[in-house]
Amino acid sequence: MTSASGLLRDVFGFDAFRPGQEEIVQAVARGENVLAIMPTGGGKSLCFQLPALMRDGVTVVISPLIALMRDQVRALREAGVAAGALTSGNTEEETDAVWLALEQGTLKLLYIAPERLAAGSALGMLRRIGVSLIAVDEAHCVSQWGHDFRPDYLRIGELRRTLDVPLAAFTATADAETRDEIVTRLFGGQAPRSFLRGFDRPNIHLAFAAKSGPRQQILSFAAARKGQSGIVYCGTRAKTESLAGALREEGHNACAYHGGMEAEARRQVEARFSREDGLIVVATVAFGMGVDKPDIRWVAHADLPKSIEAYYQEIGRAGRDGAPAETLTLFGPDDIRLRRSQIDEGLAPPERRMADHGRLNALLGLAEALKCRRQALLGYFGEETAPCGHCDLCDSPPESFDGTQAVRKALSAILRTEEWFGAGHLVDILMGNMTDKVRERGHDRLPTFGVGRDMSRAQWQAVFRQMMGHDLIRPNPDRHGALTMTDAALPILRDQQAITLRRDTVAKPDRRPAVRA
Ligand code: ADP
Ligand code: ZN
Repeated sequence: MTSASGLLRDVFGFDAFRPGQEEIVQAVARGENVLAIMPTGGGKSLCFQLPALMRDGVTVVISPLIALMRDQVRALREAGVAAGALTSGNTEEETDAVWLALEQGTLKLLYIAPERLAAGSALGMLRRIGVSLIAVDEAHCVSQWGHDFRPDYLRIGELRRTLDVPLAAFTATADAETRDEIVTRLFGGQAPRSFLRGFDRPNIHLAFAAKSGPRQQILSFAAARKGQSGIVYCGTRAKTESLAGALREEGHNACAYHGGMEAEARRQVEARFSREDGLIVVATVAFGMGVDKPDIRWVAHADLPKSIEAYYQEIGRAGRDGAPAETLTLFGPDDIRLRRSQIDEGLAPPERRMADHGRLNALLGLAEALKCRRQALLGYFGEETAPCGHCDLCDSPPESFDGTQAVRKALSAILRTEEWFGAGHLVDILMGNMTDKVRERGHDRLPTFGVGRDMSRAQWQAVFRQMMGHDLIRPNPDRHGALTMTDAALPILRDQQAITLRRDTVAKPDRRPAVRA
C-alpha cells in the first residue's frame, strides 16, 4: 500500500495535510465507519479520495450536486486517477466509458447522484462491481428537518447494509441534532468514529518575526528554552548542519537531520529524539512524518515554510501532550523570492502553480497579519474564532499605518525603471541616494527620485517585504529577481484602494527571560 503522504504529494500535489485530514484519511483507509465534520473549504474531498486510492476496489461517492461531482471527476482524471460519474448530466459516451471501466475493474472512484439509488438496477450493479467503501458528501442532506433534505439520501443506509462495507460521511453542519440523525439514518444507530474536533491547538503559542540577523534570532529563541526538546526547520540541508553546529557551540544538545543523510544516521536521530530529553533537531521538512513525540516544547522555522498547510503541520508537532509549547517562524524577502521561484521553476501544470502561489500568499498574509494570528490561521481553514490572547499579535498589537502613499511611491519607482531592478536600488532611488548605479542610469532625473526621504532604509525595506507579502509585487525569475508589479497592485496604483501596513520590523526581544543553566 502506498503511503498516504506519498499519494498526497504525488497524486494531489500537496506538501502537507490540512488540519484533521491525516487522522481522517487513516481511519477511512483502515475501513472504520467515520463521521467527519469539517468547515466548508477545509478539504473534505481529499479525506475520501485519498483512502479510495489506498483501498482495493471501488469507492462509491454519493454527492447531491452534479456540478460538484463533475468538477471532482475532472480534477481526479487530470491527476491520473480513474474516476467516473453516473449522473443525469452524462452523455451516452461518458456512461459507456464508466461502465466499461467498471467491468474491467479499473475504476477507483464512482460518483453517483442520489436519485440513481432509487433505480432498482443501481443496487444490483453496485453489488457486482466490488465496492469497498461508501463516501457520503454533504451527509446532512439525510436530515429531514434541515433545509437541504434529499429524500434519496434515506436509501444510503440500506445500501450500506446490503453491500456491507464501511461508510464515511462528511458534512460542514455540526449541530448535535443533525449529527444524531446522520448516525441513525446512515449508520443504523451504530456510532461511527467521529471527528468533530476543531483545528485549534490552543496550547501552542504562535509568533512570526521578520529576519534581522536570523541565526542570532534562532539562537536566542533556543537559549530561552535551554534543556527543552525542540525542532528547528531550515530551508536547506547545508543550513541544518551549520545551525546545529552553532547551537552546539552555545552548549545545546543539537543534531542535524535531512534527506541527504544515510538512512541509518537518520534513524539514529529519530531514536535519540524520542528517547532523550532536551535534544534539538535542526532539520529539513524530511523530519517529522514519523515523529510521534508528545513533549516537543518548541518548533522554530529558520526559513519560511512552503505553504500555510506546511506551517500548520510543522508547528503542530509541538505540544501534543497539551502542555504549553512555543513557536517562532522567521521570514524575509529572500524566502519569498526562493519560494516563488521554486513554484515557478517546478514541473507542475499551470493551474497547480497558481494554486501553490495562492497557498504561499496565504502564509505570507499570516506572516504580515495585523490582528490575532490564530484567528487568521483558523479563518483560512474555515473556522471562525475570537482573538486568542495567545499569539505575538495578541501579546503586543503591532502599530499599523496607512501605507497607501508609500506603496504608490514604491510602485512608481518600479514602473519608471521598467521593472528591471531589485529592492536595494529602488530604495536608493526613493531615498534620493546618489549611488554610482543611480548616476550611471540617470535615475536621479526620475520624478520618483528622493520622494521617500521621510522614511528610513529599514522602513522602506519593510514596505517592499510587505508588498511582496501582499503579492503586489513579485520577483521576476527571468530578470535576476527584479521586481515586477502584479495585477493586485493596480487598484492601489490608481488610488482606488488603500492598504494598511505594519510599522514593525525591528526584531522585538524575546518575550521570555533567558533561562540560565
Ligand atoms: P470542502 O471541505 O469544502 O469540500 P474541498 O475538498 O473542496 O473542501 O477543498 C477545498 C480546497 O482545499 C480545494 O481547493 C483543495 O484543493 C484544497 N486542499 C485540500 N486539501 C489540501 C491540502 N492538504 N493542502 C493544500 N490544499 C488542499
Ligand atoms: Zn491571538
